[in-house]
Amino acid sequence: MIRIAIQSKGRLSEESLALMREAGIVIDEQKRKFLARSANFPVEVLYLRDDDIPAVVADGSADLGIVGYNEVAETGADVEIVRKMGFGSCRISLAIPKAQEYNGPSFFEGKSIATSYPNILSKWLAENKVNAEIRKIMGSVEIAPAAGIADAIFDIVSSGGTLVSNGLKEVETLLWSEAVLVAGHNLSDEKKAILDTMLFRIDAIKESRGMKYILMNIPSDKIEEAVKILPAMRSPTVMPLAAEGWCSLHSVVLESELWDKIERLKGIGAEGILVLTLDKVIG
Ligand code: ATP
Ligand code: MG
Repeated sequence: MIRIAIQSKGRLSEESLALMREAGIVIDEQKRKFLARSANFPVEVLYLRDDDIPAVVADGSADLGIVGYNEVAETGADVEIVRKMGFGSCRISLAIPKAQEYNGPSFFEGKSIATSYPNILSKWLAENKVNAEIRKIMGSVEIAPAAGIADAIFDIVSSGGTLVSNGLKEVETLLWSEAVLVAGHNLSDEKKAILDTMLFRIDAIKESRGMKYILMNIPSDKIEEAVKILPAMRSPTVMPLAAEGWCSLHSVVLESELWDKIERLKGIGAEGILVLTLDKVIG
């Protein structure tokens, strides 16, 4: 049995549980209680506030955790980062009222900064030899300057919309973050084996994200050119069509390259192009 700590309610909860589900690990989400055992896999889920996850993994109360890298960096918890999860991307930045001119880190000398991340911030201030007062507040950090609580903020940014609507501008990014899978350092052999099984599945899911399955009809004498456009995992699958001189070509393609490749394939005579969602890629 392995125990994984997941955020109970918040931005990472749904995607963390979705990942478990896609990995074939059934957890009864209707009864989301403090601790839930999977019905079909030797894993139990511990639902926590995200702030508590790094410490609980570091002290062995949980074996694994899914948490924002920002929380790992802030707590300095002694955990191993096993995988980047590819969701929950954000950055943590310093922001100031937009009317003020920014002239570099010395701007913050003698100022007060509201944040939920005092450790990351104080390290940066020390590195830049800036003396500023850190005001730790746990929520609604972005309203601090307008409310007269602080001169600036250090907070999570994703689109930047929240900053703009609070009359702030981003001036320094101190940390880039995404959700990470963390593990304790002293897992038993049994737990390591369970983790390996989970990683095999997680990697297959991650691999499939951003990939598409593509199939098309193509004149047989164009196959060599098509293979150059679509290198595939080993090489594309080619099947003869009933119509003489035509083949069906199947491959996988990175979503980011999809349209470019489709245009090139059409250019050499591909027809009836179908693009399908991929569920898992097992290399
Ligand atoms: P909890 O109640 O569990 O303490 P919280 O309010 O501290 O939750 P959330 O807002 O749910 O935290 O965010 C959880 C994590 O999701 C953050 O630590 C960060 O890694 C990531 N995150 C937060 N805000 C954003 C955002 N706007 N865009 C993308 N990811 C974000
Ligand atoms: Mg939190």
